[in-house]
Amino acid sequence: MSLTKRILLAMMLGVVVGGLFNVATTEGWMGASFGHWLDQFMVHGLFDAVGRIFVASLKLLVVPLVFVSLVCGTASLGDNSRMGFMAGKTIGLYLLTTAVAISLALLMGTLIRPGDGIDLAVASDFTAKASPSLKDVLINIFPSNPIQAMAEGNMLQVIVFSLLMGLAVSKSGEQGRRIAAFFEDVNEVIMKMVTILMNFAPYGVFSLLAKLFAGLGVSVIMDLALYFFTVLFVLLLHGLGVYTTLFKVFTGLSPLVFLHKLRATMVFAFSTSSSSATMPVTLRTVEKRLGVDNRVASFTVPLGATINMDGTAIMQGVATAFIAQAYNIDLGLNGYMLVVLTATLASIGTAGVPGVGLIMLTMVLDQVGLPVEGIGLIIGVDRLLDMMRTVVNVTGDSMVSSVVANSEGMLDKDTFNDPDAGLIESELEDAKA
Ligand code: ASP
Repeated sequence: MSLTKRILLAMMLGVVVGGLFNVATTEGWMGASFGHWLDQFMVHGLFDAVGRIFVASLKLLVVPLVFVSLVCGTASLGDNSRMGFMAGKTIGLYLLTTAVAISLALLMGTLIRPGDGIDLAVASDFTAKASPSLKDVLINIFPSNPIQAMAEGNMLQVIVFSLLMGLAVSKSGEQGRRIAAFFEDVNEVIMKMVTILMNFAPYGVFSLLAKLFAGLGVSVIMDLALYFFTVLFVLLLHGLGVYTTLFKVFTGLSPLVFLHKLRATMVFAFSTSSSSATMPVTLRTVEKRLGVDNRVASFTVPLGATINMDGTAIMQGVATAFIAQAYNIDLGLNGYMLVVLTATLASIGTAGVPGVGLIMLTMVLDQVGLPVEGIGLIIGVDRLLDMMRTVVNVTGDSMVSSVVANSEGMLDKDTFNDPDAGLIESELEDAKA
């Protein structure tokens, strides 16, 4: 069986096994001690351990991969004005897609009105953490110590340092060429590490999902069904409608092939709930499966994993409408415009790790004067929505990356159209057998 199929199967098995464990413990199948054993040794023992090792091994590669790959990319791009132009296009598209996402979310949120008649008493405790100010977010992009930036995994700072280094390499003549050649070799080796670790994905994905669904109460979804399904609907609309249309219009290539090749990456995003942890896999897929040149992908993908969060913006849009309705507050047109603006900026400041989107929602609510405690109403279903919006976040990064590459003449259409391109070695062997 191909690796992608095994990953998809692991995802489904994880959901089923986790769900069964959930029912077994809550219904007391085979006695309380069996339930205790399941919980202690399987869910919080084995599954937890394997899942965490899997996520750690992905995160392990993020900083070295971004650094090395981006230095290679910038060094070989050479021309600075081209870099500036490409960066402008990328950031512009990231902001534009996010603004579309949040507008769609607000529109659906006001049409479907999921927050009408919600019982405010069901809100669970939520104490808001202070969100960083816009000024701090901006200042924070510039590193004062590259090692610290890397140690803390501060992606924007690592990106800025790598761009500077790549630029210097391209301007350093003979020495620069030697360094560039060295970095290219290291890049190949790190990509190989991504490939090796991807082979363990089925076990990691299974464990993460089994643990999560074992502890997930489905009944909370019932109470918030309308909110939950509104977010889900807009996520699907954006992912399957907006992205595929933009992709088709700008590249002329098949959006179905695009989505198909992204399947495994989506499962990584879904099971880890982290665009940042998924980044190594996204980068590999975008370069080797979709045919985006390293000079584009090494910049667009890490940047996207850090600042482009369309799925998160969608949740924030529906959540804002929902909370306004639950508290019977009319935002008015100005309020909605302000939400579009702040949610777009908030998504830039949202780190690509689980649950941060909800924390950044406080910034949006604050701006339009909605009660931050309202977050307590939706927190119960956020874990599951987090997984789904992360899939959209990662799909958006890959879409913009392909569109920018195509416009720069750096999208290899043969690779894109070759169904076997970039399949992991073991998959290729399977395919040949
Ligand atoms: N988990 C999301 C991501 O990593 C961020 C969020 O919405 O919380 O993309």
